[in-house]
Amino acid sequence: MAFGDFLSKKMKKSIEKNMQKSTLTAENIQDTLKEIRLALLESDVNVDVVKELIAKIKEKAEGGYIQEGVKANQQMVKIVHDELIEILGKENSPLELSKKPSVIMMVGLQGSGKTTTANKLAHLVRKKNSKNPLLVGLDIYRPGAIEQLVELGQKNNISVFEKGKQDPIITAKQALEFAEQNGHDVIILDTAGRLQIDEKLMNELNELRKNTSPSETLLVVDGMIGQEIINVTNEFNRLLKLTGVIVTKLDGDARGGATLSITYMTKLPIKFIGEGEGVSSLSPFYPKRMSDRILG
Ligand code: GDP
Repeated sequence: MAFGDFLSKKMKKSIEKNMQKSTLTAENIQDTLKEIRLALLESDVNVDVVKELIAKIKEKAEGGYIQEGVKANQQMVKIVHDELIEILGKENSPLELSKKPSVIMMVGLQGSGKTTTANKLAHLVRKKNSKNPLLVGLDIYRPGAIEQLVELGQKNNISVFEKGKQDPIITAKQALEFAEQNGHDVIILDTAGRLQIDEKLMNELNELRKNTSPSETLLVVDGMIGQEIINVTNEFNRLLKLTGVIVTKLDGDARGGATLSITYMTKLPIKFIGEGEGVSSLSPFYPKRMSDRILG
Protein backbone atom coordinates (compact mmCIF):
# COMPACT_ATOMS: atom_id res chain seq x y z
CA MET A 1 0.00 0.00 0.00
CA ALA A 2 1.28 3.46 -0.88
CA PHE A 3 1.24 6.69 1.12
CA GLY A 4 -2.32 7.66 2.06
CA ASP A 5 -3.89 4.40 0.87
CA PHE A 6 -5.07 3.34 4.30
CA LEU A 7 -6.93 6.59 4.93
CA SER A 8 -8.28 6.60 1.42
CA LYS A 9 -9.80 3.15 1.76
CA LYS A 10 -11.44 3.89 5.12
CA MET A 11 -12.77 7.31 4.12
CA LYS A 12 -14.32 6.11 0.89
CA LYS A 13 -15.87 3.11 2.59
CA SER A 14 -17.47 5.20 5.31
CA ILE A 15 -18.91 7.76 2.88
CA GLU A 16 -20.29 5.06 0.60
CA LYS A 17 -21.78 3.09 3.47
CA ASN A 18 -23.52 5.98 5.21
CA MET A 19 -24.50 8.12 2.29
CA GLN A 20 -26.86 5.85 0.36
CA LYS A 21 -29.71 8.33 0.75
CA SER A 22 -30.02 10.99 -1.89
CA THR A 23 -29.61 13.90 0.54
CA LEU A 24 -27.47 14.83 3.51
CA THR A 25 -29.35 14.39 6.78
CA ALA A 26 -28.35 15.10 10.36
CA GLU A 27 -28.19 11.36 10.88
CA ASN A 28 -26.06 10.35 7.93
CA ILE A 29 -23.71 13.29 8.54
CA GLN A 30 -23.22 12.20 12.13
CA ASP A 31 -22.61 8.56 11.22
CA THR A 32 -20.13 9.45 8.51
CA LEU A 33 -18.24 11.92 10.68
CA LYS A 34 -17.89 9.34 13.40
CA GLU A 35 -16.20 6.95 10.99
CA ILE A 36 -14.11 9.59 9.27
CA ARG A 37 -12.85 10.70 12.67
CA LEU A 38 -11.82 7.15 13.47
CA ALA A 39 -10.18 6.70 10.06
CA LEU A 40 -8.13 9.85 10.57
CA LEU A 41 -7.02 8.78 14.05
CA GLU A 42 -6.16 5.27 12.87
CA SER A 43 -4.12 6.80 10.07
CA ASP A 44 -2.04 8.61 12.71
CA VAL A 45 -3.36 12.10 11.95
CA ASN A 46 -2.69 14.41 14.88
CA VAL A 47 -5.63 14.77 17.33
CA ASP A 48 -5.78 18.56 16.95
CA VAL A 49 -5.89 18.23 13.19
CA VAL A 50 -8.66 15.64 13.44
CA LYS A 51 -10.72 17.98 15.66
CA GLU A 52 -10.28 20.89 13.27
CA LEU A 53 -11.12 18.81 10.21
CA ILE A 54 -14.21 17.24 11.72
CA ALA A 55 -15.50 20.60 12.98
CA LYS A 56 -15.06 22.18 9.54
CA ILE A 57 -16.64 19.27 7.68
CA LYS A 58 -19.57 19.25 10.10
CA GLU A 59 -20.12 22.96 9.72
CA LYS A 60 -20.17 22.77 5.93
CA ALA A 61 -22.26 19.61 5.75
CA GLU A 62 -24.90 20.94 8.14
CA GLY A 63 -24.82 24.50 6.87
CA GLY A 64 -26.01 26.11 3.70
CA TYR A 65 -23.54 24.16 1.63
CA ILE A 66 -26.09 21.57 0.62
CA GLN A 67 -26.86 21.66 -3.08
CA GLU A 68 -30.14 20.53 -4.58
CA GLY A 69 -29.86 17.60 -6.95
CA VAL A 70 -26.36 16.55 -5.89
CA LYS A 71 -26.18 13.18 -4.20
CA ALA A 72 -25.22 13.02 -0.53
CA ASN A 73 -22.10 10.95 -1.13
CA GLN A 74 -20.84 13.33 -3.82
CA GLN A 75 -21.45 16.32 -1.57
CA MET A 76 -19.65 14.70 1.31
CA VAL A 77 -16.66 13.76 -0.86
CA LYS A 78 -16.44 17.35 -2.07
CA ILE A 79 -16.63 18.79 1.44
CA VAL A 80 -13.97 16.44 2.84
CA HIS A 81 -11.78 16.95 -0.24
CA ASP A 82 -11.87 20.75 0.12
CA GLU A 83 -11.19 20.67 3.85
CA LEU A 84 -8.25 18.29 3.41
CA ILE A 85 -6.70 20.72 0.92
CA GLU A 86 -7.04 23.53 3.48
CA ILE A 87 -5.37 21.48 6.21
CA LEU A 88 -2.56 20.46 3.85
CA GLY A 89 -1.68 24.07 3.08
CA LYS A 90 -3.87 24.85 0.03
CA GLU A 91 -1.20 25.39 -2.62
CA ASN A 92 2.11 23.86 -3.58
CA SER A 93 4.97 25.87 -2.13
CA PRO A 94 7.62 26.11 -4.85
CA LEU A 95 11.34 26.35 -4.24
CA GLU A 96 12.73 29.86 -3.98
CA LEU A 97 15.38 29.87 -6.70
CA SER A 98 15.43 33.50 -7.82
CA LYS A 99 18.79 34.45 -6.25
CA LYS A 100 21.92 33.82 -8.30
CA PRO A 101 23.17 31.55 -6.99
CA SER A 102 20.46 30.15 -4.72
CA VAL A 103 21.69 28.22 -1.71
CA ILE A 104 19.55 25.38 -0.40
CA MET A 105 20.57 24.15 3.02
CA MET A 106 19.43 20.63 3.85
CA VAL A 107 19.18 19.82 7.56
CA GLY A 108 17.85 16.86 9.53
CA LEU A 109 18.58 14.04 11.89
CA GLN A 110 21.02 11.32 10.91
CA GLY A 111 19.40 8.63 8.80
CA SER A 112 16.48 10.83 7.77
CA GLY A 113 17.53 10.59 4.12
CA LYS A 114 19.33 13.93 3.82
CA THR A 115 22.20 12.84 1.59
CA THR A 116 19.97 10.78 -0.71
CA THR A 117 17.44 13.62 -0.89
CA ALA A 118 20.11 16.26 -1.61
CA ASN A 119 21.05 14.22 -4.66
CA LYS A 120 17.42 13.74 -5.70
CA LEU A 121 16.79 17.47 -5.34
CA ALA A 122 19.82 18.32 -7.49
CA HIS A 123 18.50 15.95 -10.13
CA LEU A 124 15.04 17.54 -9.92
CA VAL A 125 16.15 21.20 -10.19
CA ARG A 126 18.30 20.29 -13.16
CA LYS A 127 15.44 18.52 -14.91
CA LYS A 128 12.46 20.70 -13.92
CA ASN A 129 14.06 24.14 -13.44
CA SER A 130 16.91 23.82 -15.96
CA LYS A 131 19.45 24.65 -13.24
CA ASN A 132 23.08 23.68 -12.97
CA PRO A 133 23.30 22.40 -9.38
CA LEU A 134 26.34 21.88 -7.19
CA LEU A 135 26.15 19.46 -4.27
CA VAL A 136 28.32 20.29 -1.28
CA GLY A 137 29.35 17.59 1.20
CA LEU A 138 29.42 19.06 4.72
CA ASP A 139 28.39 16.05 6.78
CA ILE A 140 31.71 15.50 8.50
CA TYR A 141 30.25 13.36 11.29
CA ARG A 142 28.41 10.44 9.70
CA PRO A 143 31.08 8.02 8.47
CA GLY A 144 30.90 7.65 4.72
CA ALA A 145 28.39 10.47 4.18
CA ILE A 146 30.67 12.54 1.95
CA GLU A 147 31.77 9.48 -0.04
CA GLN A 148 28.10 8.56 -0.47
CA LEU A 149 27.33 12.03 -1.85
CA VAL A 150 30.27 11.84 -4.25
CA GLU A 151 29.19 8.41 -5.42
CA LEU A 152 25.58 9.50 -6.00
CA GLY A 153 26.82 12.60 -7.82
CA GLN A 154 29.00 10.52 -10.11
CA LYS A 155 26.19 8.12 -10.81
CA ASN A 156 23.82 10.91 -11.80
CA ASN A 157 26.34 13.22 -13.38
CA ILE A 158 25.98 15.98 -10.78
CA SER A 159 29.00 17.99 -9.58
CA VAL A 160 29.97 17.52 -5.95
CA PHE A 161 32.24 19.85 -3.97
CA GLU A 162 33.88 18.42 -0.85
CA LYS A 163 36.97 18.97 1.25
CA GLY A 164 36.77 15.92 3.49
CA LYS A 165 36.72 16.66 7.21
CA GLN A 166 37.70 20.33 6.86
CA ASP A 167 35.62 22.86 8.87
CA PRO A 168 32.22 22.96 7.09
CA ILE A 169 32.05 26.78 7.13
CA ILE A 170 35.36 27.06 5.26
CA THR A 171 34.27 24.34 2.82
CA ALA A 172 30.93 26.07 2.24
CA LYS A 173 32.61 29.39 1.51
CA GLN A 174 34.98 27.72 -0.93
CA ALA A 175 32.01 25.99 -2.55
CA LEU A 176 30.29 29.36 -3.11
CA GLU A 177 33.39 30.63 -4.90
CA PHE A 178 33.70 27.44 -6.90
CA ALA A 179 30.03 27.72 -7.92
CA GLU A 180 30.49 31.26 -9.14
CA GLN A 181 33.57 30.34 -11.18
CA ASN A 182 31.91 27.30 -12.69
CA GLY A 183 28.44 28.60 -13.47
CA HIS A 184 26.48 26.69 -10.82
CA ASP A 185 23.26 28.55 -10.03
CA VAL A 186 21.89 26.27 -7.30
CA ILE A 187 24.07 25.14 -4.39
CA ILE A 188 22.75 22.32 -2.23
CA LEU A 189 24.43 21.95 1.15
CA ASP A 190 24.30 18.46 2.67
CA THR A 191 24.89 19.35 6.33
CA ALA A 192 25.65 17.11 9.29
CA GLY A 193 22.93 15.44 11.30
CA ARG A 194 22.99 13.79 14.69
CA LEU A 195 20.91 11.00 16.14
CA GLN A 196 19.17 13.56 18.31
CA ILE A 197 18.82 17.32 18.31
CA ASP A 198 21.55 18.90 20.42
CA GLU A 199 22.76 22.40 21.02
CA LYS A 200 26.19 21.89 19.51
CA LEU A 201 24.73 20.72 16.20
CA MET A 202 22.26 23.59 16.10
CA ASN A 203 24.97 26.16 16.80
CA GLU A 204 27.07 24.74 13.99
CA LEU A 205 24.14 24.78 11.58
CA ASN A 206 23.27 28.34 12.59
CA GLU A 207 26.82 29.48 11.90
CA LEU A 208 26.70 27.79 8.53
CA ARG A 209 23.37 29.50 7.78
CA LYS A 210 24.76 32.94 8.69
CA ASN A 211 27.74 32.37 6.41
CA THR A 212 25.84 31.10 3.37
CA SER A 213 22.49 33.05 3.50
CA PRO A 214 20.39 30.21 2.12
CA SER A 215 17.21 30.96 0.16
CA GLU A 216 15.83 27.71 1.49
CA THR A 217 16.51 25.87 4.72
CA LEU A 218 14.76 22.54 4.28
CA LEU A 219 14.28 19.96 6.98
CA VAL A 220 14.47 16.37 5.79
CA VAL A 221 12.37 14.10 8.03
CA ASP A 222 11.80 10.38 7.96
CA GLY A 223 8.09 9.73 7.37
CA MET A 224 8.35 6.49 9.33
CA ILE A 225 8.88 8.22 12.71
CA GLY A 226 5.17 9.08 12.95
CA GLN A 227 3.98 11.84 15.27
CA GLU A 228 7.55 12.55 16.34
CA ILE A 229 7.84 14.42 13.01
CA ILE A 230 5.94 17.33 14.55
CA ASN A 231 8.32 17.67 17.51
CA VAL A 232 11.42 17.36 15.34
CA THR A 233 10.08 19.96 12.89
CA ASN A 234 9.11 22.41 15.61
CA GLU A 235 12.48 22.05 17.30
CA PHE A 236 14.52 22.56 14.12
CA ASN A 237 12.28 25.45 13.12
CA ARG A 238 12.65 27.18 16.48
CA LEU A 239 16.42 27.12 16.17
CA LEU A 240 16.98 27.43 12.43
CA LYS A 241 13.96 29.18 10.91
CA LEU A 242 13.09 26.60 8.30
CA THR A 243 11.46 27.45 4.98
CA GLY A 244 9.96 24.03 4.41
CA VAL A 245 9.93 20.30 5.03
CA ILE A 246 10.76 17.28 2.88
CA VAL A 247 9.28 14.00 4.11
CA THR A 248 11.10 10.84 3.03
CA LYS A 249 10.38 7.11 3.03
CA LEU A 250 6.66 7.55 2.41
CA ASP A 251 6.78 4.48 0.19
CA GLY A 252 6.82 2.56 3.46
CA ASP A 253 4.06 4.51 5.22
CA ALA A 254 0.58 3.76 3.96
CA ARG A 255 -1.01 5.52 6.95
CA GLY A 256 0.88 8.75 6.50
CA GLY A 257 -1.31 10.75 8.90
CA ALA A 258 1.63 12.34 10.70
CA THR A 259 2.81 13.80 7.40
CA LEU A 260 -0.66 15.12 6.68
CA SER A 261 -0.55 16.95 10.04
CA ILE A 262 2.74 18.79 9.53
CA THR A 263 1.54 22.00 7.92
CA TYR A 264 -1.40 22.58 10.27
CA MET A 265 0.73 21.82 13.34
CA THR A 266 3.90 23.71 12.38
CA LYS A 267 2.72 26.27 9.77
CA LEU A 268 5.51 25.10 7.47
CA PRO A 269 4.89 23.90 3.93
CA ILE A 270 5.79 20.40 2.82
CA LYS A 271 7.81 21.15 -0.29
CA PHE A 272 8.57 17.60 -1.44
CA ILE A 273 7.89 14.00 -0.57
CA GLY A 274 10.25 11.07 -1.12
CA GLU A 275 8.74 7.74 -2.04
CA GLY A 276 11.67 5.52 -2.88
CA GLU A 277 15.42 5.20 -3.02
CA GLY A 278 15.83 6.02 -6.70
CA VAL A 279 16.99 9.43 -7.90
CA SER A 280 13.60 10.24 -9.49
CA SER A 281 11.51 9.37 -6.46
CA LEU A 282 11.16 12.91 -5.12
CA SER A 283 8.00 14.83 -6.00
CA PRO A 284 6.77 18.33 -5.27
CA PHE A 285 3.94 18.20 -2.76
CA TYR A 286 0.57 19.43 -4.00
CA PRO A 287 -2.22 19.58 -1.38
CA LYS A 288 -4.86 19.15 -4.09
CA ARG A 289 -3.18 16.10 -5.60
CA MET A 290 -2.83 14.56 -2.14
CA SER A 291 -6.51 15.14 -1.45
CA ASP A 292 -7.35 13.67 -4.87
CA ARG A 293 -5.24 10.66 -3.99
CA ILE A 294 -7.19 10.12 -0.78
CA LEU A 295 -10.68 10.75 -2.11
CA GLY A 296 -10.33 10.22 -5.85
P1 GDP B 1 21.22 10.83 6.06
O1 GDP B 1 21.97 10.26 7.24
O2 GDP B 1 20.11 11.71 6.52
O3 GDP B 1 22.10 11.48 5.06
O4 GDP B 1 20.48 9.58 5.36
P2 GDP B 1 20.70 8.84 3.96
O5 GDP B 1 20.50 9.78 2.82
O6 GDP B 1 21.96 8.07 3.98
O7 GDP B 1 19.45 7.85 3.97
C1 GDP B 1 19.31 6.82 4.91
C2 GDP B 1 18.67 5.60 4.23
O8 GDP B 1 17.34 5.91 3.84
C3 GDP B 1 19.37 5.20 2.93
O9 GDP B 1 19.45 3.79 2.89
C4 GDP B 1 18.47 5.73 1.84
O10 GDP B 1 18.56 5.01 0.64
C5 GDP B 1 17.12 5.59 2.49
N1 GDP B 1 16.10 6.51 1.94
C6 GDP B 1 16.15 7.85 1.79
N2 GDP B 1 15.01 8.33 1.26
C7 GDP B 1 14.20 7.26 1.05
C8 GDP B 1 12.84 7.09 0.54
O11 GDP B 1 12.13 8.04 0.16
N3 GDP B 1 12.37 5.81 0.51
C9 GDP B 1 13.10 4.74 0.94
N4 GDP B 1 12.54 3.54 0.88
N5 GDP B 1 14.34 4.86 1.44
C10 GDP B 1 14.89 6.10 1.49
